[in-house]
Amino acid sequence: METEGMPLGMVGVVVYPFIFVCKKHVNNRIVMNHERIHLAQYEELGILGFWPVYLTLYIRELMRYEKHFKAYINNPMEQEAFDNQLDLQYLRARKPYSWAKYL
Ligand SMILES: [Zn+2]
Repeated sequence: METEGMPLGMVGVVVYPFIFVCKKHVNNRIVMNHERIHLAQYEELGILGFWPVYLTLYIRELMRYEKHFKAYINNPMEQEAFDNQLDLQYLRARKPYSWAKYL
């Protein structure tokens, strides 16, 4: 699903079962792969489980780094997505809860 613009400079966001991506990135396979990795995380944690886990991990990193961007990129769920977004075959072999190895 494409959008005209995303808040806070975001490129994309997953609101299960949809992926919202800034219009200029809608054909970017790396961005879409990143968001699909989050979709896989969503599917294993459930609709009600993803955001509480994501936000808890974000707050943990925010307490550690005291900066939004560092908390964002060091969130284990983002680390899994960033580390594997270039591998367009990653989701075929991904093991459930792979983000947990970044805890
Ligand atoms: Zn992400």
